[in-house]
Amino acid sequence: MSVTASDLEFDQLHIWHPYTSMSHPLPCYPVEAASGVELQLADGRRLVDGMSSWWAAIHGYNHPQLNQAATQQLEKMSHVMFGGITHPAAIALCRSLVAMTPEALQCVFLADSGSVAVEVSLKMALQYWQARGERRQRILTLRHAYHGDTFGAMSVCDPDNSMHSLYQGYLAPHLFATAPQCGFDQAWDENDIAPFAALLEQHAGEVAAVILEPVVQGAGGMRIYHPTYLKRVRELCDRHQVLLIADEIATGFGRTGKLFACEHADVVPDILCLGKALTGGYMTLSATLTTRHVAETISNGAAGCFMHGPTFMGNPLACAVANASLSLLAENRWQQQVAAIENQLKQQLLPLKALPKVADVRVLGAIGVVEMRESVDVAQLQRGFVERGVWIRPFGKLIYLMPPYIIEPEQLSRLTAAVTAAVQ
Ligand code: PMP
Repeated sequence: MSVTASDLEFDQLHIWHPYTSMSHPLPCYPVEAASGVELQLADGRRLVDGMSSWWAAIHGYNHPQLNQAATQQLEKMSHVMFGGITHPAAIALCRSLVAMTPEALQCVFLADSGSVAVEVSLKMALQYWQARGERRQRILTLRHAYHGDTFGAMSVCDPDNSMHSLYQGYLAPHLFATAPQCGFDQAWDENDIAPFAALLEQHAGEVAAVILEPVVQGAGGMRIYHPTYLKRVRELCDRHQVLLIADEIATGFGRTGKLFACEHADVVPDILCLGKALTGGYMTLSATLTTRHVAETISNGAAGCFMHGPTFMGNPLACAVANASLSLLAENRWQQQVAAIENQLKQQLLPLKALPKVADVRVLGAIGVVEMRESVDVAQLQRGFVERGVWIRPFGKLIYLMPPYIIEPEQLSRLTAAVTAAVQ
């Protein structure tokens, strides 16, 4: 089945794409297959993928081991309800997640997507304090945060983007601390944590949890901040007895050079959200982990249980592929691969800082970000990228790369050369 001109016309008229106008949609490129680090367009052109399908496809596309896991599971069962039933794929996955995350995180909640994992984490925090008989219903988050598009998640995203102004009145009034200013490689400045510390101190008695993206704020600006900021947040949460939720949906599974970004600061959260690369980008699945203490406190509360249970909870197909993805990670090639990508991104992107139109260049692990002084023309840049045989999707002022870990140096050079040409 190939995409025809009339298919594309139907798509434009009837299908919503992410954050896209229905009346003036940006062009869409038909992809018919993907394999390794390449996307294949309907006209046969092959593009080197610089996006990992939004942080997810860490092992590349059409991976034999992930395919095999999906096929084998499909032959047994693709889905079964999780209420009153369990199955080997979910048990194996949760066993691995408990083993690979910090010792304190012992209880796993599987759900459908990153946004739902964030909803689950917020509900856990609220139910925890309810069970303890304290009325704590506010969440403290950071400016420039992004945690997803559902209502709870939106309420803890950056308040100055359109999401808050559009849904004013529907979103819970949470607390927003100044985002970290100190970059990952800069000298740590103790003043950086002062606004957060002051806000938490002022509202400690009403704050249920702090939620943040450790070390890399993703969709809210691709900002890479100093690990000591995260360390201080953990200390302040301990001091004020506030739960810490780490949203590692984007940063988890090696992307920043550590298996989890919290490791940069040697910090253990009370609740951890995982998603995206959990299934190697094959399908949607998320996991929210918490401590035995939080889980038991919730379970001993008035409700007697945690009040969430999606239809596709623990979907066996997704769990089976996630198990295969975690097995690939356990082979430990990712560390070398991500370190090599980081080196090359630094060599090839950091010099762009000297260009007048470039505001900043940041690299951490397999993430390379060029921040322009002005917003870019996405459609025009994208056309140029496709002509050059690469897939890069800029947003706002940001042109960024986060390729699959298996990318070869020549392929990565094609991506950085395309970025260089675009910013010049
Ligand atoms: N948290 C973070 C840090 C994310 O980057 C995203 C997705 N971009 C989400 C949550 C939401 O995940 P999903 O799109 O799977 O709902």
